[in-house]
Amino acid sequence: MNIDIKARLESIRSTLADGVTLVAVSKFHPLEALREAYDAGQRDFGESRVQELAAKAAAMPADVRWHFIGHLQTNKVRQLLPSVYLIHSIDSLHLLQTVDREARRIDKTVDVLLQLHVAAEETKFGFSPDECARLVESGALSSLANVRVRGLMAMATNTDNFAQVEAEFRRVCDLFNSLKAGPLYDNPEFSEISMGMSDDYPIAIRCGSTMVRIGSSIFGERQY
Ligand SMILES: *Cc1c(COP(=O)(O)O)cnc(C)c1O
Repeated sequence: MNIDIKARLESIRSTLADGVTLVAVSKFHPLEALREAYDAGQRDFGESRVQELAAKAAAMPADVRWHFIGHLQTNKVRQLLPSVYLIHSIDSLHLLQTVDREARRIDKTVDVLLQLHVAAEETKFGFSPDECARLVESGALSSLANVRVRGLMAMATNTDNFAQVEAEFRRVCDLFNSLKAGPLYDNPEFSEISMGMSDDYPIAIRCGSTMVRIGSSIFGERQY
């Protein structure tokens, strides 16, 4: 099977609103596929495993922006930080503190998103909207000098009930807006909402997404 990655990228880009970043989710795909996307102008790539991201980062040009989108274990943070551009999947204060400490160790400031759990599936990670609001209101984030919280990330339930998907995305956007109107009103860095995958990104964009994470619609099915 030969997929025209360039054509797929162009067709997806043509549907994205201005200001929406396309993260090409390249997990489990070989370097040749990433190079093809790179040659078509793609610079933001998403990976879900630390080792795979680090290996691909070493093999790809230095101007790639590597997004980490998988569940992150604290014992992998050190290996991730040198190459990562944005960590989408901060799902506990403990993890955030670990990232801050490791970032300070290498004298770096790391951009992160707080992952929300709004889907019906138990298997997905993240803060509930209430937990997230409490974390922000607690002021605990401001003591972390080496992380910059740039916004929120979420996944919707994997269902073809689009009304449910839309309701879940709306909850993310509602929380984002209430944080912007409240405790984060003077924080222009808090500006990103990462939501939307191959099957639901048009809905996510309608609900205010600024960053979509698209894999199979660009690269085809993953070979696990
Ligand atoms: C794999 C993955 C994606 C991409 O999913 P597709 O359905 O292939 O577009 C997006 N976000 C996260 C968190 C993922 O793990």
